[in-house]
Amino acid sequence: MADNQELDLICPACGKTMKKVLIPDAGINIDICLDGCGGIFFDNRELDKFDEPHENAEKIMKLIEGRTFKKVEEEEVRHCPICNVPMVKMGAGAGGVQIDVCNTCGAKFLDNGELLKIREGDKADITKVDALLNTLYQENLRSVIGENADRPIVSSPRRQFFEDLANHFLRL
Ligand SMILES: [Zn+2]
Ligand SMILES: [Zn+2]
Repeated sequence: MADNQELDLICPACGKTMKKVLIPDAGINIDICLDGCGGIFFDNRELDKFDEPHENAEKIMKLIEGRTFKKVEEEEVRHCPICNVPMVKMGAGAGGVQIDVCNTCGAKFLDNGELLKIREGDKADITKVDALLNTLYQENLRSVIGENADRPIVSSPRRQFFEDLANHFLRL
């Protein structure tokens, strides 16, 4: 894979030169289309450091917050600015967001707003899982476990669920 850390990249969506932004926490540079469409280009695996709700994307969010970006056609085929091959559309996160992925170098391009949507979609998903576990816990597992049925529920149903499940099987 070509090393693009020094090279200015051309935005695959709007053709503007992207700006390198150092994210000290993650120790990486990402490329943001600040003068054009607001898209974000992540090298191979860089996105993995920002797509979960608990990960710190504050610096990226601050840079793009409140700016007006050029509107681009999101359905169009983009070309990887490193490899110059067509990128493929892929679903990312729980929110059904479509991002562009380069199958040659593994880079990913997100249109403006998509990072936020991925992060929020995952957050919503986690909330849903917790609600599900809580219901399951209240309605089924408590009676299965029996002896702990009167114990008050702690603040994290997820932790409670797995703790009780583990205890249940350890006793079998
Ligand atoms: Zn752009
Ligand atoms: Zn590529």
